[in-house]
Amino acid sequence: MIPMVDLKTQYAQLKDEIDAGMKEVLDTCAFVLGPNVQAFEKEAAAYLGVKHAIGCASGTDALHLALRAAGITEGDEVITSAFTFIATAEAIAYVGAKPVFVDIDPRTFNITAEAIEAAITPRTKAVMPVHLFGQPCDMGPILAVCAKHGLKLVEDCAQSFGASIGGQQTGSFGLAAGFSFFPSKNLGCYGDGGLVATDDDEAAAFMLQLRNHGSKVRYYHDVIGYNSRLDEIQAMILRVKLKRIEQFNQGRRRAAHLYSRLLADLPLQTPFEDGIGVHVYHQYTLLCDKRDEVMKALQDKQIACAIYYPVPLHQQNVFKEAYAGVSLPVTEDVARRCLSLPIYPELSDEQVQEIAATIRAVFGA
Ligand SMILES: *Cc1c(COP(=O)(O)O)cnc(C)c1O
Repeated sequence: MIPMVDLKTQYAQLKDEIDAGMKEVLDTCAFVLGPNVQAFEKEAAAYLGVKHAIGCASGTDALHLALRAAGITEGDEVITSAFTFIATAEAIAYVGAKPVFVDIDPRTFNITAEAIEAAITPRTKAVMPVHLFGQPCDMGPILAVCAKHGLKLVEDCAQSFGASIGGQQTGSFGLAAGFSFFPSKNLGCYGDGGLVATDDDEAAAFMLQLRNHGSKVRYYHDVIGYNSRLDEIQAMILRVKLKRIEQFNQGRRRAAHLYSRLLADLPLQTPFEDGIGVHVYHQYTLLCDKRDEVMKALQDKQIACAIYYPVPLHQQNVFKEAYAGVSLPVTEDVARRCLSLPIYPELSDEQVQEIAATIRAVFGA
């Protein structure tokens, strides 16, 4: 059996360090916003090349805090992708703003500066690009459009920890960025967790306050905030894994490149690296006309696969009435044909070969 992500093998490799760290947290009984959170925030900020990294309860919360720090509110429009996890749009809805979905590039599955610029209205206040599946959006032109039209940039980096452009990390391009540490993400903890990154001192101070009930001083509350803190156990685990993130992402790239080599001659689209940034392969996603047959062949061999994402956000029940007039042909086509294969740092070359051989057999190759 080959799963989509193998957390057990990774835990076995890190067990001594994580178990010792766990014991220390339990012995000290500092469970919320303690020394591990402080240390992790410093280490993450240094890795990302940002002034402030602030732990919070989830990636969804991180995006929500970032949008509030950007001042996005009732009646504003935020341009984003419909080919993403629902949390991207939920965060926009939480602040009372309207997600405006634009179509994606058929090869990278990311939104582009041209599509963003075409969707700008007088109500547009921000752009939220998603570095989907671990490949950075083409940020140069997106930054130029934001500057030209005075729009805030809030990055959704839930799938892109460690992805970079010219040495600059995703999460450091805009006013603020949200990361997720859900267990299956490139940098994952053992429960829920998230992080906001920013270079802006004022935004950082506001987000620190928001994550802890709107207070700067305990029991004195200035704004309506949230209970959205990162706990010590998760921060400890994240510190153990952050030290190895480069190696983990390299492992993902190795597996991805082997897949792409072994599948190159088949009538399907393997992931396209645009050469602008470093893709960290949160997912390895094919486009394939014979999706059902490929899925069945994999399932017959106990190999996991998954469709990310089967329904674009503008067609989800929660949004479809409000977006009835919206047509995103590339997004809709990609959702019909996309298929993600198992990918994780510990996936062996032999496993990739077995998966590729199973897919090749579907095409009689
Ligand atoms: C996972 C994910 C989120 C939300 O993160 P959580 O930690 O699960 O709340 C947001 N956006 C994208 C693109 C994601 O993949």
